Amino acid sequence: MSEKEKFIKAVEEKNADQPEFIQCVREIVESVWDVYESSDKFKKARVLDLLVEPERVIIFKVAWQDDAGDVCVNRGYRVQFNSAIGPFKGGLRFHPSVKLGLLKFLAFEQIFKNSLTTLPMGGAKGGSDFDPKGKSDNEVMRFCHAFMGELYRHIGPNTDVPAGDIGVGAREIGYMFGKYKKIKNEFTGVLTGKGATWGGSLIRPEATGYGLVYFVQDMLELVGKDLKDKTVAISGAGNVAQYAAEKVIQLGGKVIMLCDSHSTVIDEIGLDSDKLGHVMHIKNVKRGRIKEYSDKYPSVCVIGKNVWEVIKEKNIKVDVALPCATQNELDGENTKALIKNGCFCVAAGANMPLTSEAVALLRKNKILYGPGKAANAGGVATSGLEMTQNSLRFNWTREEVDGKLKEIMKSIHRQCVQYGSEDGYVDYVKGANIAGFLKVANAMIEQGVC
Ligand code: NDP
Repeated sequence: MSEKEKFIKAVEEKNADQPEFIQCVREIVESVWDVYESSDKFKKARVLDLLVEPERVIIFKVAWQDDAGDVCVNRGYRVQFNSAIGPFKGGLRFHPSVKLGLLKFLAFEQIFKNSLTTLPMGGAKGGSDFDPKGKSDNEVMRFCHAFMGELYRHIGPNTDVPAGDIGVGAREIGYMFGKYKKIKNEFTGVLTGKGATWGGSLIRPEATGYGLVYFVQDMLELVGKDLKDKTVAISGAGNVAQYAAEKVIQLGGKVIMLCDSHSTVIDEIGLDSDKLGHVMHIKNVKRGRIKEYSDKYPSVCVIGKNVWEVIKEKNIKVDVALPCATQNELDGENTKALIKNGCFCVAAGANMPLTSEAVALLRKNKILYGPGKAANAGGVATSGLEMTQNSLRFNWTREEVDGKLKEIMKSIHRQCVQYGSEDGYVDYVKGANIAGFLKVANAMIEQGVC
């Protein structure tokens, strides 16, 4: 067994019940091993062994009362993985699937993503197995207050700055910020994704989706293509998917599919801003199901499967695929169908939305593939810009933030090309992993054994 395999096996044994974390560690280690092996400095410092252990994991009880007055108990987490290059930073996820292994994967991935943004942010993630779906606003508020009633001890504007993720949007950030402010009696930038009138950054809601599409533009430009008139399939119908769709439409692309966790809608004519506005109303205001899209646009086809299954079953031609829903949503079989149907570019809006087999197929077939830590880094980058504006006590305009976001996505793209180019093909997975790793590893060594 090679030294690399021994290393991965040891991580597997130590974290046996955490498959997503192991999948993520394996991908990073595969990419950076040669760089690590060829450096006496990295080996002597055992930098990879140090990297795969979180600095701190906090697990806590969240007790709250529902509208009927019944007591409910959930579990809260914060994984503070690595703070070598800045305060811990990463989202909070409220979803019944949340458990330690999932959050360790997301926090580990966040280390390299944050490093790529060029901003000073360490890697973290947190959340709870609480499901906001079907809860009243008052129930969500009581839960968020109870959650922050413990989390506040462990975070702060120079320590750890959480943000939103699945199940945590502007409403939840608002409730948590209110509680933090009350307990600490201070108004500081302790959370990002805040409302625009109380410390939030313009463009933050749009940033992950917009940044994803800016990254796709950079990938396409390098091979002499663009998004105009290209057919685009997007999975998800949440924050990332909505604003990715908006930017694709603005750039002349044709978005023909969206989905939620229940069904996919296919609109062969393509969405326009009115149709997208309707999706936003259904998902953000009514908190309903995407299938309600066909109530207003009856010619649309609705199928109770995810986008990638539907493409395989119906042989739908797609130029660009943007998985923006959840981890491991796109598997090997569905990736084969995407390739067969002419897809030449896949970029991850979600975190690790492709299985390892799916990623290997894209790389083998030399399909352009932007992994999440590069392609969806626009969200956390703009959170970083929100932190800067909070420190300055100043707000940049929409145009200023958008301009900085574009520049950051370009810089991430440049780093991927620098470390991932091989025989005329850019391996963005390798490029992103090596670039993200080098900055963090060097910082860890410069700070000594701690
Ligand atoms: P949201 O909760 O706003 O949206 C998630 C969407 O995905 C929902 O429409 C949901 O459906 C759908 N979905 C969830 N699971 C499945 C599934 N198994 N099959 C099909 N659809 C599914 O989350 P975000 O848009 O914020 O996040 C999406 C992804 O992007 C996550 O991986 C997140 O970690 C990542 N990400 C988000 C960032 C951000 O700024 N928001 C930043 C970087 C990464 P339903 O409505 O039915 O629940």
